Amino acid sequence: MSDQEKINQFMQKCRDKGLSVTPQRLSIFKALMNDSSHPNPETIYKGIKEENPTISFATVYKALETFEKHGIIKMVTSLHNTVRYDPMLQQHHHIVCAKCKKVIDLVDEDLNQIKIPESITKENQFLDFSIQFNVICSECRARQ
Ligand SMILES: [Zn+2]
Ligand SMILES: [Zn+2]
Repeated sequence: MSDQEKINQFMQKCRDKGLSVTPQRLSIFKALMNDSSHPNPETIYKGIKEENPTISFATVYKALETFEKHGIIKMVTSLHNTVRYDPMLQQHHHIVCAKCKKVIDLVDEDLNQIKIPESITKENQFLDFSIQFNVICSECRARQ
């Protein structure tokens, strides 16, 4: 998908959810849309501060929360106790380095097909799942 298509899709989703597309919200989304590093709010804030000198960290933080609540981006949960955001909405899994906290996307159809245990589906409404693989990445291994 091209950048323009991603932006169009973002604006369409905002309209559908009744969110106004402010220039600040747009630059926050743009900072995230091609970022596969699963950045935290601080990193996103630092990345756009120069272009948006008037933007505050609280604004960035709140906008990300709002996007997440409306399904525009995803939150990577419980990753070393920090909030990390993910622009990829299709089902995928994560390879996480226990040392440098790097998060790598893994799209794998075989993993998507695993059998969901009945103990989960019996009484709950099953939504989706994402597997986290904890590793020590090659860069960190080289440094050991
Ligand atoms: Zn690492
Ligand atoms: Zn991801």
